[in-house]
Amino acid sequence: MRYISTRGSAPSLSFEEAMLTGLARDGGLYVPESVPTMPKSEIAALAGLSYEEVAYRVMRPFIGDTFSDSEFGEIIEKAYAGFGHDARAPLVQLAPNHFLLELFHGPTLAFKDFAMQLIGQMFQKALARRGERITIVGATSGDTGSAAIEAFRGLEAVDVFVMFPHGRVSEVQRRQMTTPVEGNVHALAVHGDFDDCQARLKDMFNDFEFRDGVRLAGVNSINWGRVLAQVVYYFSSAVSLGAPHRKVSFTVPTGNFGDIFAGYIAKKMGLPIDKLVIATNQNDILHRTLTSGAYTTMGVTPSISPSMDIQVSSNFERALFDIYDCEGSAVAQLMDELKSGGSFNVSQGALERLRGLFVSGRVSEEETSAMIKSAFKHTGEVLCPHSAVGVKVAADHLGVTPMITLATAHPAKFPAAVKAACGQDISLPPRMADLFERDERVTEVANDLGALETLIWERLAL
Ligand SMILES: *Cc1c(COP(=O)(O)O)cnc(C)c1O
Repeated sequence: MRYISTRGSAPSLSFEEAMLTGLARDGGLYVPESVPTMPKSEIAALAGLSYEEVAYRVMRPFIGDTFSDSEFGEIIEKAYAGFGHDARAPLVQLAPNHFLLELFHGPTLAFKDFAMQLIGQMFQKALARRGERITIVGATSGDTGSAAIEAFRGLEAVDVFVMFPHGRVSEVQRRQMTTPVEGNVHALAVHGDFDDCQARLKDMFNDFEFRDGVRLAGVNSINWGRVLAQVVYYFSSAVSLGAPHRKVSFTVPTGNFGDIFAGYIAKKMGLPIDKLVIATNQNDILHRTLTSGAYTTMGVTPSISPSMDIQVSSNFERALFDIYDCEGSAVAQLMDELKSGGSFNVSQGALERLRGLFVSGRVSEEETSAMIKSAFKHTGEVLCPHSAVGVKVAADHLGVTPMITLATAHPAKFPAAVKAACGQDISLPPRMADLFERDERVTEVANDLGALETLIWERLAL
């Protein structure tokens, strides 16, 4: 299995190389050259298996010879051992034919743990074998950073730097990043918004001297390994509702398009998914794109669902690549337009294809709060604001096909918004109960590539 860049001019790589590299050297994202399909009988055979077993069978064809069968099995076991629920990704029912997939039982209480814990184990195995050391730099709107730090803290072969927008993450999110005591963990509060952090990260990858000098690796959702890990729970949940003998639909609270793109891959692999519904908050670039065909950035408006406060949805590039028949040059041209003018238009044909693959909806702040309140009243389920965005959009798409909405974070990560919406005080699970007493360690830094690179060089020299 080889991996190719969405911009068509970087060399193709093995799974291991693509995973360790992150962004391609032509600025593109790595995608598998072709997506392996799973016959109906193999999907049916997933019924009743453990999450780990499903994970193994779904991901194995993508890994190539990067890991042996037994190594890969071990990696998966270790990755999910720290989760607080035996089912890993349990389904609960919200309404007739509407189900919630709880993806928040990992160590940092957000779905990012599914991918990050797996990546942590895979990096460790691959780097130990190569005898190499790398520097991971991540940009986060809140949850990726804490998940990355949790997955890499204390690992010998890795330094992990996380840039988050200063003052724009919740206190629980910030403390999860600033309280780990391990010397290889560096939390950076950047004076800017998430898109600035993400843009600086891309700049670092495009500064080859820095990139090669620090041996830069990325674990943002641009990393193919992350997308792959997320494909698994589409299978596990769909099968438990009767797939492949019955179709299912999914609604996904979306920011960087990583999670829903994993659903698209599941569908390409043969999982009978009817609708894939994109749910956005007021930062609705994806909803506007599907509505008008114009992908136009407008600046981020902070919301109560901060992990979705994104205007440049990196993984959307992967969908565009597919829709433009894997024409890297066409994708590169759109991305150049975006970089220089802040927008691009997809062709009429591409728009029709997009609309055939995805539907979308947008939820205001008031509607998000109202949804949290009403879900609590009608089901007793306390939703985090991101999950509430999903549940609200899903409600407009219910029908005879079962709908699964992804619950992307635990409500305790966003206590203020949840309390304001439904009056409930949600406490952190016991293993994190002392989070507010721990000392914080964080460095404030300007939204400036030079300042960031200098800081990273200095830390690595210590
Ligand atoms: C990251 C995140 C999202 C958005 O996921 P994408 O893969 O970026 O679309 C939604 N909800 C929560 C809680 C998140 O942490």
